[in-house]
Amino acid sequence: MRLFMAMLYTETNTFADIPAGWAAFREGGYSRGEASAAPDTPLGVLLAEWRRLAEADGCTVIEGAAAMAQPAGRTVRPVYEALRDQILEDLRAAGPVDMVLFNLHGSMAAEGYDDCEGDLLAAARAVVGPKAIIGAELDLHCNVSEAMLASADALVAYKEYPHVDELERGRELYALCRDAALGRVRPRTGVFDCRMISLWRTTEEPMRGFVRRMQALEGRDGVLSVSFGHGFPWSDVADVTSRIWVITDDDQDKADRLARELAEEIYAVREQTRPWSLDVEAALDRALACDGLAVLADVADNPGGGAASDSTFILKACLDRGLRDVAIGCLWDPQAVALCQEAGVGARFNLRVGGKMGPASGSPVDLTVTVRAIQADHAQTGLGDTHTPMGPSAWIEADGIDIVLNSRREQVFSPDAFTSIGVDLASRRIVAVKSTQHFHAAFADIAEAVIYVATPGAIAPDFAAIPYTKRDGVFWPRQPDPLRLGPAA
Ligand SMILES: [Zn+2]
Repeated sequence: MRLFMAMLYTETNTFADIPAGWAAFREGGYSRGEASAAPDTPLGVLLAEWRRLAEADGCTVIEGAAAMAQPAGRTVRPVYEALRDQILEDLRAAGPVDMVLFNLHGSMAAEGYDDCEGDLLAAARAVVGPKAIIGAELDLHCNVSEAMLASADALVAYKEYPHVDELERGRELYALCRDAALGRVRPRTGVFDCRMISLWRTTEEPMRGFVRRMQALEGRDGVLSVSFGHGFPWSDVADVTSRIWVITDDDQDKADRLARELAEEIYAVREQTRPWSLDVEAALDRALACDGLAVLADVADNPGGGAASDSTFILKACLDRGLRDVAIGCLWDPQAVALCQEAGVGARFNLRVGGKMGPASGSPVDLTVTVRAIQADHAQTGLGDTHTPMGPSAWIEADGIDIVLNSRREQVFSPDAFTSIGVDLASRRIVAVKSTQHFHAAFADIAEAVIYVATPGAIAPDFAAIPYTKRDGVFWPRQPDPLRLGPAA
């Protein structure tokens, strides 16, 4: 068997004003055929696993281009077209293949393209013809489209948020597609539009139980795979929604039925799944009532959702209260980092911090800071234990508040985003992180409390108010019961 694999991965916040161009993909990761040689990087981790599995099965592996960028606004048109065309060129050059595997996000949009994955998958299908098996692994924040479903034999989304299961899902997709290529199974996909737009944290009930429920159905009675695509809310595209899809072995009716059944289950408890958060003042009150470390998630300024990561709302509230023993990170402020580098460790000077990217970032804050540490190549441990660079970074301190500034826009995944530059979290009362949920995987163990803070940032979790222009308003929570199934539990 011959396997071709490639990757094109970014999440597009169509409301964000940060364009994703060549620099974003160079910074996020790019390789023309060698990404799998670096399995400890976000770019290489899944491709390396597919290569390992395929080679163990005696397959010939042909690797195409791989590119990823930090979530941002729409990808610049010629950049998307060039990356897509590189993958297609590599696919054509590979000659006949039995199986094509893609590592995609599922909510990538470019200028002129609302559905990059649908466009890429359709083009790949045109290259390989109807017989080759095409599979794609997707982030669960995918807006799955008809074009994607029509062109792929199998789509498998992560089940966990935080996304700790990329490799596990990748192994399942590989096995499913290999079995299909060998004629052992015939994948049939049934899909159901839940008409809900929200975020679902799988660390909490009832979502924890729903993940286990989906998994219990797989691998028996002809059910090959079950996915819940949560959708990516900040996408002004026609396909933005949450969807359940089920892949069975050659049983379309069963796939359709089960997709509807599962969608109605999660729909029935929708009110219980609303992601809770507190406003800044209430969040600080609760944090101060803790004996141990309180972790504040600045959910609306998560660069992992395309936000700037330089908002100052929490910083400002801490300063206004005169709080000490607070750590905040990571604010994306390359200009401030450069000034700290110039001033040197130990310098004390006036510095304008954050609030630079637009109204969603709040106002810049003027501080007299002491530069505590500088790192030219700061990094943290990302999901899947990957090495995740933060670029040149500085630890500054002002009035008992420690701030980590970075030059590479990246959400906080792990405590080492602070500790490896010198901030000792054990002696802090509060740590505020720029992340919506991924931080949870590594911070839960050291936190006495995890508090989600509804700041007014770029991806504020007010789903009913997102100003869509390309889809109708028939979705929960804008409507209480868009499927007309009766009131929620
Ligand atoms: Zn995601």
